Amino acid sequence: MNQILALRLLDAADDAAVIIDAASRIRYANDAMYALSGYDAGSLPGKRIETLLPNAVREQHGAQIGAYLAGDGKNAKVLGHKRHFAIRHRDGSMLPIVLKAMDLGKLDNENYMGAFFIDQREERAIEQQNAARWQRLQRIALSDPLTHLPNRRALEIDAVRLAARARRTGNPMAIGIADIDFFKRVNDQHGHAAGDAVLRAIAGVLQSQARASDVVARVGGEEFGLLFPQTDLSMARQVAERIRLAVAATCVEFEQSPITVTISIGLALLPHNGNWKAGFMQADAALYQAKHKGRNRIEQA
Ligand code: GH3
Ligand code: MG
Ligand code: MG
Repeated sequence: MNQILALRLLDAADDAAVIIDAASRIRYANDAMYALSGYDAGSLPGKRIETLLPNAVREQHGAQIGAYLAGDGKNAKVLGHKRHFAIRHRDGSMLPIVLKAMDLGKLDNENYMGAFFIDQREERAIEQQNAARWQRLQRIALSDPLTHLPNRRALEIDAVRLAARARRTGNPMAIGIADIDFFKRVNDQHGHAAGDAVLRAIAGVLQSQARASDVVARVGGEEFGLLFPQTDLSMARQVAERIRLAVAATCVEFEQSPITVTISIGLALLPHNGNWKAGFMQADAALYQAKHKGRNRIEQA
């Protein structure tokens, strides 16, 4: 078979290909290689392959080839496998590629190696787009659009994780439900838009008064779920009290009408068996007590 024909075929390939000698000098590069690397056609032979390599591998590359040839090919980590890698474009930028390098054996008593560089830019761009879409979807799925707090689904995910950790470490975790008092009246007196503004403001107060490790989520209309990791009931009560006072002290200005609301909070401890749903039911029962006893107060199970 005519080797010239084989080279013509290689020149027509979509994937970049190079052949180097044992001294890492480029002997052949196909058209796709010039297109990928930005070098002028015909200008690569004679250059060292290191020209095209990332800094991190530049230095060891020659030594690795030497070691490979000296070791009868037994120590090759790269040869024969497809690997994610990068090459340096002529303009200095790094291009993601899949590298498939192989030992081409000897010709006229000289060793040659060859490699295909499969351009991954499009794949990488699609991956990044998918990752961004995934993050956006996750944000939409787990957050409440009105208050931007985590929603019920997000709270449940956190509850599972934090309850498991509490069980593992033996630390207590407190659970709370906060509910705005007489919220229906806000809507009735000032309109639904005012109610929305109050919800946003109260959500902000809850989040700023809770500690960084606490979880605050909107779990219903005017109802918020609270998780206090590594916190016993008396400590949770202190934080809840701070939240209650801050809410009562908040005045929401809506179309010139100042609106104030209060909240009631029910607290419970995560049960020893880690059943956080049971913990929320106890907190809900405590909330019911707080409402029953006159609202704007905290009760615990
Ligand atoms: P209680 O003190 O017993 O909690 O009384 P309440 O009026 O707060 O409780 P109720 O459950 O009777 O009413 C809750 C109200 O919250 C009714 C509903 O219209 C309102 N609500 C729920 N979600 C939203 C919302 O997203 N925006 C607004 N503006 N109102 C909402
Ligand atoms: Mg309410
Ligand atoms: Mg309610």
